[in-house]
Amino acid sequence: ATLSVAGILAESARRHGDRPALHFAGTTITYAGLWAQTRAYAGALRARGIGPGSRVAMQIPNVPDFPRVYYAVLALGAVVVPVHLLFKTEEIAHVLRDADADLLVVAAPLLGEALPAAAATSTPVVTVLLPADAPDPVRDLPRLETEAAAAAPLVRHAATSPSDPATILYTSGTTGIPKGAVGSHLSIVEQVHCTLIDSFDLNADDVVFGGLPLFHTFGQTAVMNIAFRAGASIILLPRFDADEALALMIAHDATVFTAVPTMYVGLIESGRRTAVRPPLRYAVSGGAALPVAVLEAFRAEFGADVHEGYGLTETAPIVSTNALTEPIRPGTVGRALWGVDVAVADSGIDDRVVLLDGAGELGEIVVRGHNLFKGYLGRPEATAEAVVDGWFRTGDLGTYVDGVLTIVDRKKDMIVRSGYNVYPSEVEAVLARHPGIGLAAVFGVPDDVRGQEVHAAVVALEGHDLDADEVVAFVRDRLAAYKYPRVVHIVDALPLGGSGKVLKRELVRTLAPQPA
Ligand code: ATP
Repeated sequence: ATLSVAGILAESARRHGDRPALHFAGTTITYAGLWAQTRAYAGALRARGIGPGSRVAMQIPNVPDFPRVYYAVLALGAVVVPVHLLFKTEEIAHVLRDADADLLVVAAPLLGEALPAAAATSTPVVTVLLPADAPDPVRDLPRLETEAAAAAPLVRHAATSPSDPATILYTSGTTGIPKGAVGSHLSIVEQVHCTLIDSFDLNADDVVFGGLPLFHTFGQTAVMNIAFRAGASIILLPRFDADEALALMIAHDATVFTAVPTMYVGLIESGRRTAVRPPLRYAVSGGAALPVAVLEAFRAEFGADVHEGYGLTETAPIVSTNALTEPIRPGTVGRALWGVDVAVADSGIDDRVVLLDGAGELGEIVVRGHNLFKGYLGRPEATAEAVVDGWFRTGDLGTYVDGVLTIVDRKKDMIVRSGYNVYPSEVEAVLARHPGIGLAAVFGVPDDVRGQEVHAAVVALEGHDLDADEVVAFVRDRLAAYKYPRVVHIVDALPLGGSGKVLKRELVRTLAPQPA
């Protein structure tokens, strides 16, 4: 049998050739055009010896070259390794070495960090987006566009088996060095189909917001692969800026907004300054907990329901969602995707998975199904630790009641204050109800007396002045005494990772540095 992620684009080019696939920087690219450009790139990569079994790393922002290179690599039966855009030289070198990459395709603006990494690992480099008048040291680098013009385009995509590896996505999980999660063609294609059939009714008339980074699993599958499968078009945005995002969504009549919670907060603020609205049918949130107050504010501003889902890099990514076919259950991440089993296990046991059968018991979420990754590349021990008896241990705590999943928090983010467990996301949800607060993050800081102390970092909404004592009192009035933050840091911005999530370790390091 053959099943291919590249077939997603090939098939839509056949069915929806004249329809728009991408909107980017004032231009529109049709499905036929995008597939032709992809086949041209594939021809160039093939001329470089890329084929089944090759691994091609790519570091490209959300521009049309991302899908072109991504599907070109997959169309050759090779494995694609998208690299985080914020990675520095050493981190890129780690990925190139760990994945044993045969080639790095890199966008010109990222060459500064990428070139030394490629040199250190003897990885050949080919560029995209390199201007003709580029300065000296990089001017003569090979260009994929030029090689594509000279090569014979690929005619049809390679036959790959469902279990063949398609992607290697680097994720750090708890701590330590990023590991490469290997995803199969099956995990991605099946995920796309189950989501479209049961959860979201995306179709060829939809216009999807494409501001989630495509190197990350959430943007890659829940935006790009799903939209392309449905024949919808994507508004590509290389760097998220809320005002620009809203303007583009208005200009292109966006119907679907898929984003992480920090983007929601930005868009709501931007919406308060803008009278016009895009014709949104629905919105999807994932990647981190969406405070109920944010969900409600978004609905009030934009008239669209927010369907929160839950997932991870290792699960392709969607595990569960609030589907369009059911009433939204705010504060939950909905029902498991078709064919995906979810259970709650004893979180204190490391080498076995002991399922908890009592209704509503809190434990570690474990998952099994077609969406599971094939393992961490070259790390059988890490894989064996993560997947026990066929169950993938997510590291997230939650409850599963009547088929509805609720995430309480990450195991590692839980704060233990004087022996009491404090879940940051619960405190963050209260902070999100404060009329003057935009973003908020709660984190634990080591404390000699209590083990850990609860701190919060908050960003004021435009036009609001915050007072730390007043914020403390606001939470104290609404939560048990052991939960409210004793220390509130009022900051201008929160440190965000490349996928738009708040970097909590960074907050501890900068706001509550520990004596060495
Ligand atoms: P990194 O790859 O840098 O380690 P990460 O640990 O965030 O990042 P991802 O695979 O990007 O890894 O994200 C998966 C995690 O995101 C989940 O384990 C969970 O903690 C969190 N998450 C995703 N969706 C939700 C949600 N709806 N509510 C709460 N947490 C969520």
